[in-house]
Amino acid sequence: MPTIQLNQDNYYTANANKDYMSVSLFKDFQKCEAAAYAKLTGAWKPDDNVTALLAGNYVHSYFESEEAHEKFIEAHQDEMISSRGASKGKLKTPYKIAQQMTERLESDIAFQKLYLPGEKEVIVTGKIGGVKWRGKIDSLISEENYFCDIKTNQDFHKGYWNPDERRKVSFVKAYGYYLQMAMYRELIKQTFGVECQPFIFAVSKQTPSDIMAISFNSEQDQLELESAMTTIEAFQDKYRAIIEGKEEPSRCGKCDYCRLTNKITDFVNASEIEVD
Ligand SMILES: [Zn+2]
Repeated sequence: MPTIQLNQDNYYTANANKDYMSVSLFKDFQKCEAAAYAKLTGAWKPDDNVTALLAGNYVHSYFESEEAHEKFIEAHQDEMISSRGASKGKLKTPYKIAQQMTERLESDIAFQKLYLPGEKEVIVTGKIGGVKWRGKIDSLISEENYFCDIKTNQDFHKGYWNPDERRKVSFVKAYGYYLQMAMYRELIKQTFGVECQPFIFAVSKQTPSDIMAISFNSEQDQLELESAMTTIEAFQDKYRAIIEGKEEPSRCGKCDYCRLTNKITDFVNASEIEVD
């Protein structure tokens, strides 16, 4: 079967998911294979936080181009713009915060110098082992050998419990951003033949918003990037086999999808209930 040619219109489609692995798809499979597969086939529609998704896209489209931002607002004005009361015709609160977040980033000199000049929403593809991957770079500055990603986050200093390490880790690790940065670096290399270093520009959803530029240059960060690629190599063949219908996805037993579809097949001894 020939591979589809990726473009801005088909990048997020089911067909693209069939042909190419992506970081978000891989992360879905890591959380729960059964849920990821059900989402992929359309058998289950997760109850995503639409407001959070839209607010994130508000910030992204703002820095993509004026045209992209206008198109985005037009497409979602029913959800984002208040239709009654004193605030009629104005942005609803979560999107007012999103607007405030864009202004925080835009007013920062480092952000202006480093992020704004790059080429936006650049599609990159490549092959890891036998698996085809795709990615979309928020801002690529290949002549200066770096790329940037914007992340919106609740609070930069919140810790997230990591059961493997038995300690709290930062949002960068908890949200799989090492994995994304490592993969994007590799896909840029395969697409354009240049080594680029990753940066994240993060903006918090607090009022007022905090901003932070994040690099991956410490020894620990380099190890995390390498280890993320090892994780990808260890699991991608299995996930591809599931996507192609050659292998059964396993159930985590605890996520929204598993709770919705769990059946009682046996008793669990009280003393043997799994706890985190
Ligand atoms: Zn599950």
